[in-house]
Amino acid sequence: MPSPQRFAALQTIQRRRPVATAAIAPFGELWASDVFSLATMKEALPGRIFKSVQRTIREGGKLDLSVANAVADAMKDWATSRGALYYAHVFYPLTNSTAEKHDGFISPKSDGRVITEFTGKLLVQGEPDGSSFPNGGIRSTFEARGYTAWDITSPAYLMQTPNGVTLCIPTVFVSWTGEALDKKTPLLRSNAAMNRQAQRLLRLLGESDIAPVNSSCGAEQEYFLVDSAFVALRPDLLLAGRTLFGAPPAKGQQFDDHYFGAIPERVQVFMQDVERQLYRLGVPAKTRHNEVAPGQFEIAPYFEAANVATDHQQLTMTVLKATAKKHGFTCLLHEKPFAGINGSGKHVNWSIGNATQGNLLDPGQTPHDNLQFLLFCAAVIRGVHCYGPLMRAVIATASNDHRLGANEAPPAIISVYLGSQLEDVFNQIRAGQLTGSSSGGSMSLGVDTLPDLTKDPGDRNRTSPFAFTGNRFEFRAVGSGQSVAGPLVALNTILADSIQWVADQIEDQLNTGSSLEQAAFAVLKRTMDDHGAVIFGGDGYSSAWHRMAVEERGLENLPTSADALPVLQRPVIRNLFERQGVLSPLELESRYEVYAEQYVLAIEVEAKLVLRLARTQVYPVVMAYLDNLARSLKSQEALGIGADRSLVDQLVALNQQLVGQCTGLEQALQNPPHGIEAHMAHCAQTLLPMMLRIREAVDGLELLVDDADWPLPSYQEMLFMR
Ligand code: ADP
Ligand code: MG
Repeated sequence: MPSPQRFAALQTIQRRRPVATAAIAPFGELWASDVFSLATMKEALPGRIFKSVQRTIREGGKLDLSVANAVADAMKDWATSRGALYYAHVFYPLTNSTAEKHDGFISPKSDGRVITEFTGKLLVQGEPDGSSFPNGGIRSTFEARGYTAWDITSPAYLMQTPNGVTLCIPTVFVSWTGEALDKKTPLLRSNAAMNRQAQRLLRLLGESDIAPVNSSCGAEQEYFLVDSAFVALRPDLLLAGRTLFGAPPAKGQQFDDHYFGAIPERVQVFMQDVERQLYRLGVPAKTRHNEVAPGQFEIAPYFEAANVATDHQQLTMTVLKATAKKHGFTCLLHEKPFAGINGSGKHVNWSIGNATQGNLLDPGQTPHDNLQFLLFCAAVIRGVHCYGPLMRAVIATASNDHRLGANEAPPAIISVYLGSQLEDVFNQIRAGQLTGSSSGGSMSLGVDTLPDLTKDPGDRNRTSPFAFTGNRFEFRAVGSGQSVAGPLVALNTILADSIQWVADQIEDQLNTGSSLEQAAFAVLKRTMDDHGAVIFGGDGYSSAWHRMAVEERGLENLPTSADALPVLQRPVIRNLFERQGVLSPLELESRYEVYAEQYVLAIEVEAKLVLRLARTQVYPVVMAYLDNLARSLKSQEALGIGADRSLVDQLVALNQQLVGQCTGLEQALQNPPHGIEAHMAHCAQTLLPMMLRIREAVDGLELLVDDADWPLPSYQEMLFMR
């Protein structure tokens, strides 16, 4: 029999029915119906204005004020005709969240009437009071001004809520001195940097018609659904997004019966609601399925240009969370909500390409494409080898640390998985001669005889943090709750740097009289000689790899964020971002400060919660139960029945562990060392282990105390009740 509050929650859940929402609209009416898309603009704007908008989207540059005015007018008419009264500049601060400031369209007149008004200036630039967003010291609060500026490459859209509609305008967020305060600005800059270098390499390879090169992203989002009646009884889930206590359930995920199993009806109805909203917003949701853990699911879109994909990914997280509430669920985007149960990641599929040469990471069918592909692929390999620690740093959060290297997710050592066929090709390059491949036939070094690579999608390695998957790389170590902007910025920037290196080498070789093929092969060989150590096709979870990676390959193992975040302060990283024009040293420093502070805050909040829950929910229940036991032991003795004290002894021992560890944790919390780096290490090496010891005591107690008294919903209830 569960405790009264848990019993009430169970009853609530039993009464729940799938929540049907609006009538089902045909796809044609649904798709992007809430998006001020290019097609909508084309209809609404004079031809000259539309062409100018199109040109700005394609080529960048400033929007003329008269054009902006016309667009603003059309946008307002479109939005108000659909019921919008307010507009919002949406931006992406250095937390992983989405921020917005709402303003009404109304403008009062002197005669008491109001008109709706929206000018080009209001569209293009906003000024939210950004002083309370984390900015890592770029602005002191008395210089609070921050500006939002319309990102014309990401379309405006309508956000529907039950009582109204808001026009949302994606923007960048910068300080009054021009420093990026957000995640979008560096993403746009990193894409531009990558484009500059890719153009250069393509020209060296003999291309003359080269469209702008863009990065693409398709992000697979994993999440948990827990009934909100349980979550209301779990302050840890409410405040920290993960359970700080909870004994393992008798049945976990051992049976692997959830993965790709039939989707429970209440969940499927939720998913359909989410997908319908995403379709209205022009987000191409494409895949849904159960994930490995009970209560865990996945949604993945069709890939898009990285900037738009990132905005859409943020929208997906927002819609998932808001819609879950409607269906009586809480959507957990935390990387490790349940100890001992698989956590959630966000696989960031990433490639680069353009309209003229196509996907530059596609091995393709023709030998010439192969040379191009091999060089771009080599650039990625070198980038990961030189800047692996940066890739580890951009996925470093307190929550993702619980997942990385925990035998269910990629390790904290960054390596590249190429697949056996491609690995073989690069090994032949290292050996100095392409002599053949599994597809047979002999090959010399000439470009026209480079092997014709075939895609091998069956070849997967779940244990690699960064894997080539046929025509893209999949960054598998990204956390489920993270913005994908940070990882994409890192990937684009290290690729820009590496393509530059490749292009420089080729130019040098050409200047000494080499042919293009000789020059290209020399660069490929040098890449393998100097950077091949980062390629690994084996079991990334194994302890043998952990040792080999560090001792033989010279790769870094950065197990916690406290180890990884300081990478952002290394001169080599500062130079990389500055050289590529992605982040100034000040902007990078501010990111380090913000992320380090968030790490410390996250763990300290959890530590305080551990203390609060252990002392106010667990301890009283244990004491009352001990009282009960003492009484019944006494009456057994009075009746002359031999009394067994072993349960009492176990309870007392665990309770003493709980009380003692709580005192220790409280003291450790009150006395952090000075300096952010030491403070982070204190969190990782002192607070977390202490919290874990309290958890051991509490989880032990959960298995002994009368279920009728236990206040917290159990793992069994939260994971299996839907
Ligand atoms: P998986 O087998 O890993 O689940 P999916 O077929 O579901 O793979 O695809 C994963 C994601 O990769 C999807 O979002 C898909 O659109 C995206 N994707 C496919 N091709 C590319 C590409 N060239 N660049 C970026 N993302 C891509
Ligand atoms: Mg995948």
